[in-house]
Amino acid sequence: MDVKEALQMLKAKGYKHTDKREDILTVFMNHKGYLTARDVLTRLKDRYEGLSFDTIYRNLSLFVEVGILEETEFNGEKHYQVKCEDDRCQHLICIGCGITQSVNVRPFEEQLEKSNDFKITGHKFEIYGYCSACH
Ligand SMILES: [Zn+2]
Repeated sequence: MDVKEALQMLKAKGYKHTDKREDILTVFMNHKGYLTARDVLTRLKDRYEGLSFDTIYRNLSLFVEVGILEETEFNGEKHYQVKCEDDRCQHLICIGCGITQSVNVRPFEEQLEKSNDFKITGHKFEIYGYCSACH
């Protein structure tokens, strides 16, 4: 997904294109991993005088609702990232910096299906730890 596509998704649901929304989306598209509302505020506060945490937070919730971002909670805080297009893709999440890595759990999944005679149709599965820069 890119910024243009995300803006189209907003438009399709009747939400206006604003510079602020575009800039928030750009922050996410240029970042590999999770960000908090505070991270976004830090990156944009020099550009928008008086930009509030609430405004960011409200937009992030909207982006989740529309299906642009996905959210998860760790370190007691909500974290957001661009929604993964493959709903079977799984992530290693660094709780230090929020960076994520995709991992292939397909072999594990196949083994589970075989040993339990169970057809897996989807899963939500997150692995927390520290990336090479943080541990
Ligand atoms: Zn890290």
